[in-house]
Amino acid sequence: MGLAHFHVYTLDEFTDYLFNNIFSREITCIQNHHTWLPGYTSLTKERGELFWLESMRNTHIQERKWSDIGQNITTFKSGNIGLCRPIDIKPAGIFGANQGAICIENFGNFDQGEDVMRTAHKATIIRLNAALCKKFGLSPVKSQVVYHHWFDRNGKRFSNEKINSNKVGDEQKTCPGTDFFGGNTIIAAEQNFYPLIAADILLLNGTTSQNIQTKKVNTEILNIRSGPGTSYAVLRKISNHTEVTIYAEQNDWSKISNTSEEWVFTKLLN
Ligand SMILES: [Zn+2]
Repeated sequence: MGLAHFHVYTLDEFTDYLFNNIFSREITCIQNHHTWLPGYTSLTKERGELFWLESMRNTHIQERKWSDIGQNITTFKSGNIGLCRPIDIKPAGIFGANQGAICIENFGNFDQGEDVMRTAHKATIIRLNAALCKKFGLSPVKSQVVYHHWFDRNGKRFSNEKINSNKVGDEQKTCPGTDFFGGNTIIAAEQNFYPLIAADILLLNGTTSQNIQTKKVNTEILNIRSGPGTSYAVLRKISNHTEVTIYAEQNDWSKISNTSEEWVFTKLLN
């Protein structure tokens, strides 16, 4: 078996590749990781995306004695996606839990206080997880879209209580980061990550026209924010009776664009 020949795709090119190819391996889960090191500052003009893919492969083969680079897919802060170990070959992602898995390495250090995930990177991670779910008939649920943090060194899952307690023992990795979409617990995934994937699957399915609803602004001036909460920046304001289209909902917030992060407080609509 030859080694991976790296190819770096844009997000749209990668989804085209995924949907236009047939894979034979049975896929039952998607793993999300972060590289931790190298991180965002490691990417420079001289040492770009292809450089780091080659570098990771060398480390994985020479130091870890694996057959090839461990992950199937790498995502970058640019929003680009590197195809690594072929999809049809089992990854080396979570020791003891790689059967049926696709391993995504998100390039960066997403522990609290480290790399701040770029908007383009976020969009790519969400779309990639959504596209893989659609392609392989999976759903964004805790058994099918998983974090490395949830597994012990033998690939056995920790109890939900232990994962959600957020106390990281020596044997528990923080991967994909204590700040990955608001945290690396199951609760954080269910609150912050899965709803975004679920909404994106709807978009990919083209079922949006049936599911989408429109509402009208029911207050003098309504802030449009860059995320579902008052801590997100105000992008612009819209006036009373303006009609908006709801593409996704999260807690008390509604997403009113299908191409960018634009959120409004749901209770100010009717
Ligand atoms: Zn990991």
